[in-house]
Amino acid sequence: TASLFGAVDMAPRDPILGITEAYNADKNPNKVNLGVGVYYDDNGKVPLLECVRKAEAQLLEKAAPRTYLPIDGLAAYDKAVQELVFGADSAVVQEKRAITVQAIGGTGALKIGADFLKRFAPDSQVWISDPSWENHRALFESAGFVVNSYPYYDPATRGVNFAGMLGALQSMPAGSIVLLHACCHNPTGADLTDEQWKQVIEVVTGRGLIPFLDMAYQGFGDGIDADGRVVRQFAQAGGPLFVSNSFSKSFSLYGERVGALSIVAASTEEAARVLSQLKRVVRTNYSNPPLHGGQVVATALATPELRALWEEELAAMRVRIREMRQALVAKLKAKVPNQNFDFVITQRGMFSYSGLTKAQVERLRNEYSVYAVDTGRICVAALNSKNIDYVVDAIAKVL
Ligand code: PLP
Repeated sequence: TASLFGAVDMAPRDPILGITEAYNADKNPNKVNLGVGVYYDDNGKVPLLECVRKAEAQLLEKAAPRTYLPIDGLAAYDKAVQELVFGADSAVVQEKRAITVQAIGGTGALKIGADFLKRFAPDSQVWISDPSWENHRALFESAGFVVNSYPYYDPATRGVNFAGMLGALQSMPAGSIVLLHACCHNPTGADLTDEQWKQVIEVVTGRGLIPFLDMAYQGFGDGIDADGRVVRQFAQAGGPLFVSNSFSKSFSLYGERVGALSIVAASTEEAARVLSQLKRVVRTNYSNPPLHGGQVVATALATPELRALWEEELAAMRVRIREMRQALVAKLKAKVPNQNFDFVITQRGMFSYSGLTKAQVERLRNEYSVYAVDTGRICVAALNSKNIDYVVDAIAKVL
């Protein structure tokens, strides 16, 4: 008799986690993993931030019971996140038109946003950048949407194909859901300029598209406020607006799964109805979010001394990545003077679309144990003062 699982095919391996598996198995002592999406410090370690350690010490001291959180999460967390994302003095916060729900990382925020949208905009289609974070498409498809892509990356300039992007926005039907990276585009590192954002906001709001901003790297580009500027400009332009944000990177809290979904509505009363329905989505998915990470972030954001410490530590991560971008370009220039790598300095966040071809990435892996994504994406935050010369040598040899 046929078994239930007889017809279950093996699912394809996650391409990025596959790189790490191969890296872990590699015996070369000089091996470097640039395929990751994680910030490492100059010693090649994932940092435990001092502000997190201090917040955790305070929480441990309290020895509070582990009751359930409300469906929408810890109130102090939601408030702190909302003020961080929109600015405490913003009209949407003051007028209580924004609602914020604690979520299981940025991924969980995208997922509850997608499920909510499927209920209330069931016929809309979703548009993501080409390319985008590899989970965006799968996530919205699994929520039941047709997912399309709009032009984004231009390999010729290693920047944004802005004319192509704007043209696509201008021809989408009203009610289309447009996923935009608020800052530090993953995987390319190519962001829009302020002037380009202005035009995007005009077209999106003018044509009645539904913006969904994904902000997974606030503070990794130009600073906390500078990186949040696009969210604030969209909020000012009026709702509806969806914003997913994540503290995985900015607090180095990957495994604690701390993120949030914020939605901007047209009025306080509308926001209350939206929140009530979003809570139903959460309730039927996982009931309520986990306690620990939300408490750590809420404590750090709301305690002035810890807040200042976090801003310092985040700035140090941002500056280190910038220094690695500068060093990579300077060292490559010295070895390969006939090629221009200045785009690496212009790119923002943890990643760079390096322009390395699939064949070059394969040679880096097979001959030098330097692991990058097949698309040429490298994690600049995995470079450090000890491995950069080895990486530059290897890249120069495969170019
Ligand atoms: N969105 C983007 C653009 C990302 O790069 C990531 C993580 O890599 C996420 C969302 C997911 O964040 P989290 O790990 O908090 O779920």
